Amino acid sequence: MISIESAAYAAYVVSALLFIAALAGLSRHESAKLGNTFGIAGMTVALAATVALAIDHEISGLGLGLLAVAMLIGASIGLQRARRVEMTGMPELIALLHSFVGLAAVLVGWNGYLHVEHLGGPATAELDTEGMLGIHSAEVFIGVFIGAVTFTGSVVAYLKLSGKVKSSPLSLPGKNLLNLTALTAFAALTVWFVSEPQLWMLVVVTVLALLLGWHLVASIGGGDMPVVVSMLNSYSGWAAAASGFLLANDLLIVTGALVGASGAYLSYIMCKAMNRSFISVIAGGFGLDAGPSDDTDYGDHRETNTDAVADLLSNAETVVITPGYGMAVAQAQYGVAELTRRLRETGVDVRFGIHPVAGRLPGHMNVLLAEAKVPYDIVLEMDEVNDDFADTTVVLVIGANDTVNPAAAEDPGSPIAGMPVLKVWEAANVVVFKRSMASGYAGVQNPLFFRDNTQMLFGDAKARIDEIVGALAVARV
Ligand code: NDP
Repeated sequence: MISIESAAYAAYVVSALLFIAALAGLSRHESAKLGNTFGIAGMTVALAATVALAIDHEISGLGLGLLAVAMLIGASIGLQRARRVEMTGMPELIALLHSFVGLAAVLVGWNGYLHVEHLGGPATAELDTEGMLGIHSAEVFIGVFIGAVTFTGSVVAYLKLSGKVKSSPLSLPGKNLLNLTALTAFAALTVWFVSEPQLWMLVVVTVLALLLGWHLVASIGGGDMPVVVSMLNSYSGWAAAASGFLLANDLLIVTGALVGASGAYLSYIMCKAMNRSFISVIAGGFGLDAGPSDDTDYGDHRETNTDAVADLLSNAETVVITPGYGMAVAQAQYGVAELTRRLRETGVDVRFGIHPVAGRLPGHMNVLLAEAKVPYDIVLEMDEVNDDFADTTVVLVIGANDTVNPAAAEDPGSPIAGMPVLKVWEAANVVVFKRSMASGYAGVQNPLFFRDNTQMLFGDAKARIDEIVGALAVARV
């Protein structure tokens, strides 16, 4: 007869495999839904096995009741939020969820310390005789540090992404020295704590890590936030893995390592795509010496209207659409898909150019376009389309700003200098859909709007696109 304990550990292996299958599925559009289903199945198996293990370890009635209440409250809040959240609100929700993982790691670490090192007793004696007390102390200290950095870092990321604080970077004097001092102090305290664990050291490292997490993310400018979000994702994974060591839970270690490693790899890919040094982004310092270029006078902009754009489009040979965050806000993807269909019917070659950080989360635009049933084969990555703009008749920039800003390529003093952008300005005609002359997420003025071949089409992107579709229909009758 298999014991509950063995069955639970076997279930843990199954859910670890399901999590790996989930990651594999999520890496491609076509299999993303299946990947998500694997993830949900893995988590359900993991939760069931953990509850079974708790019952097997003779958890008290009160403990079981608390577990049930916590799961019920957590599940209902999670369901509510998931139902209500807009696609554009996903990054801030993710940042908030990362902060919970960080906080949980801090609490698990503190609990581990109070239970073993502080109170002493049989658990301490057992670890001591096995020579494991030092390792336990290291797990506590490192887990609390990573958890606390993740916690405050994620809270600041949430505040910035939700627009509750400004996305511009904080620049304290000697900020790099501050970060370096904090890291050195952490290393020294870890060695000390492992040899002689004391409560005050845990208090100091908790406060130090909370401040460091806050400072690291506050120092990062708007344009680099995508990397920060994926980096915090990675940190939350390592924080969970650290908790797994303390709780002797293999599944938590495996899952934490999966999240940690995939988040780190995603951050690396994003840094490469944005021409950023990973080290300087996580050190919270990229591009801070560059002053904002907002005061520059770029001259006047030209306005256009929907009839003129419909006319321009019906006479175009090639059209490239570069969507951005504004398309998501306006929910203009269905109109854009309809416009694409109509233009293609009349023989216009329409394609999409997607910047790796367009919108507010990786793959944001791809998801919206897939939702509106735009064929995958005309949705191209930035590198696949960037050399074609010079041969393009019309580019429609729909609610994109930072991702089409020529200052990134041409102005070394710009805060977004060096970030690869879609070279839309090389096309014969550029039409920019937005509501005003306001800057994008990075808070940087966009000289594209003042170029001779650019025309601004002001208003809500969805309304304007629908008007153009209407004008095209009238012209065909
Ligand atoms: P931006 O945020 O640079 O610009 C979006 C533009 O959309 C704004 O200028 C706004 O102008 C316009 N807009 C907003 N609402 C509407 C509407 N209803 N109709 C028409 N236009 C609208 O977008 P991009 O996609 O070009 O760039 C993404 C930015 O976000 C980058 O800086 C990136 O680093 C950052 N970021 C990306 C993340 C990711 O993972 N993808 C995560 C976090 C940050 P106006 O107000 O005048 O209408």
